[in-house]
Amino acid sequence: MSIVQMEQITKHYRMGGQRYTALQHISLEVQEGEFVAIQGPSGSGKSTLMNIMGCLDTADSGTYVLEGRRVSAMNDNQLADVRNRRIGFIFQSYNLIPTLSAYDNVELPLIYRGIPGHQRKKAVLDTLESVGLSGHLHHRPAELSGGQQQRVAIARALATNPSILLADEPTGALDSHTGKEIMALLTKLHAEGRTIILITHDQAVASYADRILYIRDGAIA
Ligand code: ADP
Ligand code: ADP
Repeated sequence: MSIVQMEQITKHYRMGGQRYTALQHISLEVQEGEFVAIQGPSGSGKSTLMNIMGCLDTADSGTYVLEGRRVSAMNDNQLADVRNRRIGFIFQSYNLIPTLSAYDNVELPLIYRGIPGHQRKKAVLDTLESVGLSGHLHHRPAELSGGQQQRVAIARALATNPSILLADEPTGALDSHTGKEIMALLTKLHAEGRTIILITHDQAVASYADRILYIRDGAIA
């Protein structure tokens, strides 16, 4: 089954009265259970494409269908709903809340979604275990290494059982050894059935995916 279907997605930005094309006629499809990398140099349109895929932004034209829902026709509230329910984000900078423990960081999106307490506890413990952090439940981000912080962020992304994991340069802030461990973890999650879309400029990182889409000057090459 196809999870992501984009047809002729185009996005422009205006700056100083001029119009720049960030994405032009992007058509792509990602199947359920795939691990796909989108690779391109700085300025090629990766972040713009990730924002549209993640329902953080909308295209100027083209259609985007996510799990059979026509996202490109949705209003901001509908878009936020799909984003919160169906997408798990992983960022270069982890984006954890510094005052909260690993456990509490992972629990937060479940509280927002109104998941009852006993279900939350199971989801938090299960996902922290699946990323290898059962021994660090009560550590705050500053008490964890970069790789451990990224594992917490991955657990947080997984806890709501999203249909896609969207990872934007997930190893960008890590040394190469730790980066490989994080890519091995994403590979394991993929083997367990997760659909993963990885955005990176780095060929070595992209090579963990089953399929690489190259983006140049806002177009799939
Ligand atoms: P990278 O993806 O390499 O981290 P960015 O996405 O931050 O880089 O920026 C890529 C280019 O997009 C830069 O040239 C930057 O100036 C431009 N850019 C990013 N965000 C904005 C913005 N909000 N307004 C204007 N230009 C932006
Ligand atoms: P990447 O993530 O591959 O670095 P981006 O998607 O950030 O690429 O940028 C693609 C193009 O769109 C660049 O030319 C960039 O300058 C421009 N751009 C990105 N975001 C903005 C923005 N918010 N305002 C104006 N221009 C932007």
